[in-house]
Amino acid sequence: MYRTHTNGQLRADDINKEVTLAGWVQKTRDKGFMIWVDLRDRYGITQLIFDEDRSPKPIMEAASALGREFVVQVTGTVIERESKNPNIPTGEIEILVKELTVLNASLTPPFTIENETDGGEDLRMKYRYLDIRREAVRENLVFRHKVTMAVRNYLSGKSFVEIETPYLIKSTPEGARDFVVPSRMNQGQFYALPQSPQTFKQLLMIGGMDKYFQIVKCFRDEDLRADRQPEFTQIDCEMAFVEQEDVLTTFEGLTRHLLKEINGVEVGKFPRMTFDEALRRYGNDKPDIRFGMEFGELNEVAQHRDFNIFNSAELVVGIAVPGGNSYSRKEIDKLVDWVRRPQIGAKGMVYVRCNEDGSFKSSVDKFYNQEDLAKWAGVTGAEPGDLICVLSGEIDKTRAQLSALRMELAERMGLRKADEFAPLWVVDFPLLEWDEETERYHAMHHPFTSPKPGQMELLETDPGKVKANAYDLVLNGNEIGGGSIRIHDKEIQSKMFDYLGFTPEEARAQFGFLMDAFEYGAPPHGGIAFGLDRLVAILGGQETIRDFIAFPKNNAGRDVMIDAPAPIDSEQLKELHIKLNF
Ligand code: ASP
Repeated sequence: MYRTHTNGQLRADDINKEVTLAGWVQKTRDKGFMIWVDLRDRYGITQLIFDEDRSPKPIMEAASALGREFVVQVTGTVIERESKNPNIPTGEIEILVKELTVLNASLTPPFTIENETDGGEDLRMKYRYLDIRREAVRENLVFRHKVTMAVRNYLSGKSFVEIETPYLIKSTPEGARDFVVPSRMNQGQFYALPQSPQTFKQLLMIGGMDKYFQIVKCFRDEDLRADRQPEFTQIDCEMAFVEQEDVLTTFEGLTRHLLKEINGVEVGKFPRMTFDEALRRYGNDKPDIRFGMEFGELNEVAQHRDFNIFNSAELVVGIAVPGGNSYSRKEIDKLVDWVRRPQIGAKGMVYVRCNEDGSFKSSVDKFYNQEDLAKWAGVTGAEPGDLICVLSGEIDKTRAQLSALRMELAERMGLRKADEFAPLWVVDFPLLEWDEETERYHAMHHPFTSPKPGQMELLETDPGKVKANAYDLVLNGNEIGGGSIRIHDKEIQSKMFDYLGFTPEEARAQFGFLMDAFEYGAPPHGGIAFGLDRLVAILGGQETIRDFIAFPKNNAGRDVMIDAPAPIDSEQLKELHIKLNF
């Protein structure tokens, strides 16, 4: 037996017990006649003591030769500590060691394995197994486990069945490129890794499984943005014989359960907002509604003077920054610089100071009088002491810019509190989205999403206006889940492929299996998928998903620990009938 107890277990009640412990040497303090060692494992830290008078000499010698991260086993007696440490649960006791076995030595670790580490991100990723020994990382992984267990228990309790779907498949479009895997046995042919199990979960509904879920890896070959992973985990779900309302209710239930179970937070009924409203009020389809600063559209009250910048703009829109009138001129100039950075891309920013005495001072006083500005304050909801920030230009871009400013200011003012949770359903997404590059419509969600009832005709006349039975669950300004009611009719599905620019042959080749299945009694169905990595991070009060993934990839999509991706040898290429051509 390697141990009788873990390193987080022993208390004052255990004094005088003979115990055996095992773990890693976190640190040693050697005074010559006395040596203390902090012994660590997943459960905590227990202090060992070796002392000239009470420990055998060879053991004293062995103890003084211990280095950081050596793996040891000790046997000894639990004794009361002279100077207690109230900061750790085992702080009242220590182990007077009688036997010491070094199970394995260790090189000096490349960074300190403590909560405050001196290791930079790259180094910690290269030695991720050492990083995982740190309490912070370890506890994040345990936390993730708790969340997935809560998800499994809840859904299982609601008659959902977890079913695995294959990884070696054909393309399922979710708007990204596929990762592909060459087939050795089928020369010149490739599998695609699933961007999601979308088509399989629909086939499970046709198979009569009724309620499915799966905690599943998905793979998307996208240009990497900060904090995106090429492989990530979804809680993927599907239900048969449901309307949108049923799906929303079920997964509002799951989310509420998680907030209660994991965070001890009770939230009421989730508010709902249409996609159009979200854009109008927050400039964004995943608004953070933990704080105000809602958009006020100013076209009507700002396009009647000689200010050409506003007059020629599609949209003039502002937000009232609470207490913003206290910003110095320099601070405001910095804000203007901030919105003009290429990442944000605004041309400039007009501002209005709302003085305590009810008067206004703006950067466009030449064009607008006090009465005009009072109207702006009315529309944006500005109070005396606030600062109104106004942007103008094309609708979509201007909204995105002001939304970025709103989030930045909220962050600076500490309004994005990690322990506050504001879920929100965004509904009525457009079915299609115009793509400038390819000059055609794309499915906004995916091609299996059904239009709202009665909107099929609109597809002919005004495709951009068609709304879908599609919804997103937003939590604290992050999209944590999205789904839709699906098409379950072959004719409608082929029409959809047609609108999306697939020739009948292409649609047949890629999705013939699904359309065939629709002809054998496909029930109405719909579902949703949650991004587990992000959900866990938010519930854990953080926003970096990498911190909750055991072995994440870096921003360039590389695993720096195993050094992947990597070339393969020419034999293997030959077997796969692949010739490199660069
Ligand atoms: N397959 C979709 C996605 O990955 C989710 C869904 O529609 O259920 O976003």
